Amino acid sequence: MSYVTSLKCRECGQEYPITPVHVCETCFGPLEVVYDYERIRKVLTRAAIESRPHNLWRYRELLPVDSEPEMGPFSGYTPLLHARRLGAQVGLNKLYIKDDTVNHPTLSYKDRVVAVAITKAREFGFTTVSCASTGNLATAVAAHAARAGLRCYIFMPEGVESGKIVGSTIYGAKVITIRGNYDDVNRLCSEIADKYGWAFVNINLRPYYTEGAKTFGFEVAEQLGWRLPDHIVVPTAGGTILPKVAKAFKEFKDLGLIEGSFKIHCAQAAGSAPVIAALHKGTDLILPVKPNTIAKSIAIGNPADGYYVLKAVRESGGWGEGASDPEILDAIGLLARTEGIFAEPAGGTTLAVTLKLAHQGRIKPDETVVVSITGNGYKTLEAVAGIIEQPVIIEARLAEFDALYERLPNGKRAVAGAA
Ligand SMILES: *Cc1c(COP(=O)(O)O)cnc(C)c1O
Ligand SMILES: [Zn+2]
Repeated sequence: MSYVTSLKCRECGQEYPITPVHVCETCFGPLEVVYDYERIRKVLTRAAIESRPHNLWRYRELLPVDSEPEMGPFSGYTPLLHARRLGAQVGLNKLYIKDDTVNHPTLSYKDRVVAVAITKAREFGFTTVSCASTGNLATAVAAHAARAGLRCYIFMPEGVESGKIVGSTIYGAKVITIRGNYDDVNRLCSEIADKYGWAFVNINLRPYYTEGAKTFGFEVAEQLGWRLPDHIVVPTAGGTILPKVAKAFKEFKDLGLIEGSFKIHCAQAAGSAPVIAALHKGTDLILPVKPNTIAKSIAIGNPADGYYVLKAVRESGGWGEGASDPEILDAIGLLARTEGIFAEPAGGTTLAVTLKLAHQGRIKPDETVVVSITGNGYKTLEAVAGIIEQPVIIEARLAEFDALYERLPNGKRAVAGAA
């Protein structure tokens, strides 16, 4: 049973039936799913949600599927951790980590959007699914397609981390890398979608796919005890997750499930920061850039939904910053040493930007702030290779260890993270 009524153009308001289309025929604006909120209000209570399994479908009235969802039975409902050691070190007492490094099955926030998109692809009767990806989407689509028994083609720019190539191929997907950057890949995929009629999760299924990102926000609000954080910092690549987290908070407020207000802040890698540039300039015009950063999963120079990121940030009174590659690496190390969470560079970006916003006084020491950690570092080992100390090799003799121990700055090292 679905509470979806139609698709609607975000720009001119024209309505469309529920089909695999994503742009308005009249104005080329993006299409968005419309729900019957009056009906949802009658059934979706805190108690109803709390009674359901710990996966993203616990918010199913606010997701665009008709069938009983079979995809993603363990996707979503990732931990929200009060990061006390990290918080103490950086002077933020209510610092929380929303930890999608452990999202099932492929360890990034993309398992949320893909669980919804693949469910929808099956409802539409597609037999082949595909995507244009910076890496994490590839692994999520490949894994979910395998479980759904669908054929799968993955398109990525050359130079993505090997963990993302191996992590897609292993599921039986055909992986194609393109000479060029993500924006080149995306352009090609739009043509392939038209010609071959496949379900591209982030192109022709985009209106459904993006709705899955709301579950990140729903969970934050529920896990904070049905409250909004004062601040949430969210990374931006193509601009899906940030506006959808803001939308999630607004939907919960409109449905009377939560109260209060929030500021949403945008984090980009400085080497791919077209949205931050526009934000800082005070313009709506996002000038495409050529990405150059170790944060490959968020290296999109021409973000499809960048405009809506700006809109959501400004409406909430939030801000945003870029983080350089060295700042990203420092933040990855800091999070790992203080909280035992190994994030990929997108997570390092988000934490680095959070620290900048705190430094600027935009986030106060006693305000609640959620740092969105969207992907796992085990898939991007290359990124941290340069900051990792190589292990020492010794013979299996106590005397050798004794001699080594003498030379190690042991006391200092053991408490370094706690300083
Ligand atoms: C895809 C991705 C994002 C955000 O991308 P959007 O297109 O802006 O939603 C953030 N972090 C990681 C790890 C990702 O893979
Ligand atoms: Zn339109």
